[in-house]
Amino acid sequence: MLKKAMILTAVILVCLPLFDKTMVAEEYIVEQGDTLLKISDQFGTSPETIVNLNRLYSTRLEPGQYLELPDTYKVNDGETLYKISMKLGVSLSDLVLANPAISNPHWIYPGQVINVPINNEMHFMGDTSEKRIALTFDDGPEVTYTTQILEILREKDVKATFFVVGERVRKYPEQLRQMYQDGHAIGNHTWDHPHLPELKDQEFIENIQSAAEEIERVIGVKPTLFRPPYGEIKERRLEWLEKQGYQTIMWTADTKDWSEISAEEIVSKVMKEANPGVIVLQHNYHASGPFETVQALPRIIDELRTQGYEFVTVSELLN
Ligand SMILES: [Zn+2]
Repeated sequence: MLKKAMILTAVILVCLPLFDKTMVAEEYIVEQGDTLLKISDQFGTSPETIVNLNRLYSTRLEPGQYLELPDTYKVNDGETLYKISMKLGVSLSDLVLANPAISNPHWIYPGQVINVPINNEMHFMGDTSEKRIALTFDDGPEVTYTTQILEILREKDVKATFFVVGERVRKYPEQLRQMYQDGHAIGNHTWDHPHLPELKDQEFIENIQSAAEEIERVIGVKPTLFRPPYGEIKERRLEWLEKQGYQTIMWTADTKDWSEISAEEIVSKVMKEANPGVIVLQHNYHASGPFETVQALPRIIDELRTQGYEFVTVSELLN
């Protein structure tokens, strides 16, 4: 009896610090067999939080990969989620979203460790609670591929998101108008697709604003989505974009369709990343050489639909 009690005590003593450590850990090293879903379940967070916090361009994890986890907060006596949201300076809805494991906001208890919402300045992945995916097309409009892509999307009744370049909008306003009329979301992809970190602040601002004005001139609406060319942007400019009403959109699945790969390879790249909340990066512009996005698109749509995915615009996926 005494021996049993001693073993039990030893087990408790060994397990307590381990359990405690797991709950407050703010970093994690990926182990063999780990998935985003498994890790997010373990830490009471969501896959998109891990992806967005770590700025991952993929949903697939490598063993040994280092992951940052959301900061945690230990609930004090008499605290409600509302009180905590005031204390942390975040909205109550963000706090609830950061803690999908809490099914009833009234059931938090003193000593409970909850997740602090992350400051989501860049979106690499959208809401993962439903089987929805956003297809995005960059660098248009133009006349070779855009028309075909729009036709496929119309035929298959799919809403997508186009990140357009200002100077091409000026050249091909009709294409942009068609995208918008078809119900697709339109995002700002700068005026002339520069490498943004090389621009001075004023040049950066003018580049974004002139594209926004051109888009608004054609469709009558200001874009609220922004994607930096090559995915590169200086950190401090994200805040400016946010103040201008933009959400900065990156991607989860890169088709690399610009690299002259086959339709087969493009489809396979998307299918490998197929997960709820994924943002797929494709293009509707290619200067010259082979470009098989148009051939890949119907298959991507059909295969994802077979797996039960729905297609939404980026704006819908984020909310
Ligand atoms: Zn681009």
